[in-house]
Parts: sequence; C-alpha cells; structure tokens
Amino acid sequence: MRVEEKSGMNLLRKGNKDLIKELNRSLVIDMVRLQGNLTRTEIAKKTGLGLSTITNIIDELIKDNLVSEIGTGDSRGGRKPVLLKFNGDYGVIVGLKIEKQQIKMCLANLEGKILHKDHFTYVLKEKNQLSGVIIEKLESFIEQNVCASKVVGIGIATPGYVDQESNEVVYSPILKVDHGDLKPIGEHFNVPLLIDNDANVFALAEKWIGLGREYRNFIGVTVGAGVGAGIVIDNMLFQGTFGGAGELGHITIHQGDRLCYCGQRGCLELYASDAYLVNEAKRMVSIGVPTLLESLTPITPESVVTAAQRGDTYAQELLVKQGENLAIGIKNMVHLFNPEAVILGGEGLREEEFLLKGIKKELAVHFFVKHPRKLQFHTTEMGEDVWLIGACALVASHLFKVPIYK
Ligand SMILES: [Zn+2]
Repeated sequence: MRVEEKSGMNLLRKGNKDLIKELNRSLVIDMVRLQGNLTRTEIAKKTGLGLSTITNIIDELIKDNLVSEIGTGDSRGGRKPVLLKFNGDYGVIVGLKIEKQQIKMCLANLEGKILHKDHFTYVLKEKNQLSGVIIEKLESFIEQNVCASKVVGIGIATPGYVDQESNEVVYSPILKVDHGDLKPIGEHFNVPLLIDNDANVFALAEKWIGLGREYRNFIGVTVGAGVGAGIVIDNMLFQGTFGGAGELGHITIHQGDRLCYCGQRGCLELYASDAYLVNEAKRMVSIGVPTLLESLTPITPESVVTAAQRGDTYAQELLVKQGENLAIGIKNMVHLFNPEAVILGGEGLREEEFLLKGIKKELAVHFFVKHPRKLQFHTTEMGEDVWLIGACALVASHLFKVPIYK
C-alpha cells in the first residue's frame, strides 16, 4: 500500500520530488514524536543533519501543525532554546480488536492515547460478513465522536494468522474464519488498513508506549484462548515470511500426545491455554477429586481462578502447572532468541499469584542463567487496552515508519 495514494496522508509524508528531503523529514518527525521535548540543536546532533536543514524541516512541520513549540529549555548562557513537541492530536487512529463474539474499538490520538472506546457483539450468519458488520458499527462510532476527516488509518488486531500483503485473515480457528477479507473496511473509509495477529499487536503496543520501550530485544507472550508470541529483535517486530513468526502455541512439547486442532500432536496450546484449565478441571471433578470446582459449574477458566483464590489447592496447583507448561515454551524462545525480557499479557492472566509462580519457577533455570545480565520478566501494565493500543500502533508505525515496523 503506497501511503501517498491515501487521503489525509499528504501532510504526513510529503511529495516524492525530493526523496532525501522526505527521508530527513520522516527522521525528524520520528525523533520528535518518540523522544519529545527536543531543541532544534539537539535534533541536529542526534540526526547528524545540519542545523539549517533541521530549521527548515521544523518550520515546515510547524506550518503543517505536526510539531509545535512548547516553551524553553535550560540555557547555557544566551537565549534559551525552544523545545519542540509532536502534535499527537493532528489525526485520529481507529483501533479494533476482533474477538470470538465481540469487537472492541477505539479512537486514539497519534501518541496512543485512547480518546473513545466502545464494543459490540456480533453473530455472523454467512461467510464474509465480518467487514460489513464492522463498517456499519464503525461508521456511527466515528460520526458520534470525531470529524471523519481526522481519521488517518485503521488498525486491526485479530486472532489467527494474517497475510500481510493481502490484509486477509488467512486462518483463525477462534473466529472460525478461512480467508476473512477485511480489505473493504479500508476501502470504505479510504484510509490505510493494517492488520496483524493479537500477539504481534501486543508486542507492538509494548514497544510503542509500554514496558518494551526499555528493550531492544524482547518477546511479548499472550495467553488465553490461545498462546502466542510477538518477537522484537533490534527494535523491530520479526514477522517471518508472511507474518507467521512467533506461533508459540503450536510448538510441540509432548511428542505423539493429544491431537491439536492444527493437525499436530502435543502442541503447547493444549497445555497452557484456557482450554487446558477447563479440561483438566473437568477431568479432576469426573474422577472424584475433592475440589471446590465440583460446586462451581459450569467450569470455566474464571471458576478455576475463583476456586484457587478460595484456597482450593487442586485449582491452585492446576494454575501453577499451566504456568510451568507455558514457561517451557517461553524458555524455548529464550534459547532461540536470547531476549532481554519477556512481557506477558492476555485474558489468561486473570490472577498472577499461581500462574506466575509456575512461570517463574520454570524460568528460573535456563541455559543463560550464569550470565550477569538476567532475563527480565514482566506482566503488561496496559491491561485490556493493550490490544487496542497495539492496533493503533500498527497504523502509527505505518504512517511514521517507526523503526520497529518496516
Ligand atoms: Zn497445534
């Protein structure tokens, strides 16, 4: 997708006449956007560009309302330097999170600040209705809250895997969609549409405004209905050939064991997802284990957590075991990528005591433990908003070419 072809983009990435000028402009926007409160001299130093070039670019960006002056910095004698700030309210990004039965949506500014949020439930009666359903709801959501011309792009987080070229959900067992075409959404609103799977979007959100800002290399791990990972290497999301890298849920942890819906046996997801909790809990009840879960029917992941919090040791052990299983997969990734940190999130993170106990116990031992630089482990600080923020990050990364996302 060529940015120049889309409406609303002309001010963000101007003209093709002078490629170098455009690259310099992007470099300056990106620096002001991500580092903020910089002076013209500081930007010149950091970019290695001449002060007169920077001054010209900044004048233009101020004129276009993408950058504004915000008072003065410390003076070392002489005139106090003027600080510059990116204008995050220049445009509005639409973020969507597609779930099994509901769709969450938000409008955010260009710095990832959510301005409005909403959600709706949906039932698809026929194939390929998803785009139509989203367009209808999104239209009124935008109309109620902002001027439609301010929308600069739409980002979508979806389960399953996505073809980055065609913007299609190629396969999603959770959505029960094969080749779900979402392109009409971008065409309808005439803005760039960016789609990626939940785990990649999670990692992008963390890299943009979360804990991932601190790390050059980290793995974002999501747990819930599925298990996934987004891999950030050298500040860039590693996507693989068609966007499928980080399919953590389908690495084999038990050879020749239970059959997974993907056709393989012994996948991690069978031992670390919500379904694992429910199936194991049901199995315990069916064989007469004296657990509180017996009275908490129908058994759901939430009822396992409730039982654990009420002191049921079987439920507690089950959550610890889920954590240990998940950590076996995480450790495999640690050994392959040697990241600085692992950041965990997802709806499966309902309680942190027992699940994290299992994860931390297992992660305490790995091949690199003797190195003075210890692997850091975090849980996300963004809560459920992480998906919407990540969906918006897809768009921001596209518009400004953040180094993380090509
Ligand atoms: Zn599988």
